Amino acid sequence: MPEKKKDKSEQALRILSLLGREYPEAGCHLEFENPFQLLISTLLAAQCTDDRVNAVMTPLYKRYKTPSDFLKLTPAELEIELRSINFYRNKTKSVLSCCKTLIEKFDGEVPRTMNALTLLAGVGRKTANVVLGNCFGEPAIMTDTHLIRVSTRLGLTSSEKPEKIEADLKEIIPEEKQVQYSHLIGQHGRTICKPRKPLCMECLINHLCPSRGKFE
Ligand code: SF4
Repeated sequence: MPEKKKDKSEQALRILSLLGREYPEAGCHLEFENPFQLLISTLLAAQCTDDRVNAVMTPLYKRYKTPSDFLKLTPAELEIELRSINFYRNKTKSVLSCCKTLIEKFDGEVPRTMNALTLLAGVGRKTANVVLGNCFGEPAIMTDTHLIRVSTRLGLTSSEKPEKIEADLKEIIPEEKQVQYSHLIGQHGRTICKPRKPLCMECLINHLCPSRGKFE
């Protein structure tokens, strides 16, 4: 590994060690009981809060448990169920199309590879990584808005494109720590490194951050 990358890797590992002690419970904020539920909820969480998706979907999953169950709903019926989620009309189409493909191509099961997952409607690398990392124990960098913001401020990536950010981070974070990194950085972004006013003075990794104080 080139020297500069080695430095970043060491910086990332020190950050992980400190955040790991601060947020021992950090994990996925979407509620789910199986890969299918996490797949659908992640798809719905784009440009919407996890809390809103949980509030809508946790009760809905009690009534509709499988892709076939969802396909019993007409688009108009599902739109009504999802109407408090941003962009619910387009997302309704994606959910139904995703369920159809799951049945037609994967026997109703959620596939376990990036290539297969991204064949599903509405599923990009971010959603696929959330499922692979949380459900199947695969190495995964989950490039949600918090991870992108905090990783950039920490100087661990300088790219703006999620795919490049994912690739940059995969180069410096060992595979077995990538899911943990995603959860810890996400938690730090929610509680301290907030979008508009990061709380740099209270931040326990501020000595490792090149952006410390830039927002005052
Ligand atoms: S020092 Fe400030 S910008 Fe850097 S990680 Fe902490 S809160 Fe975010």
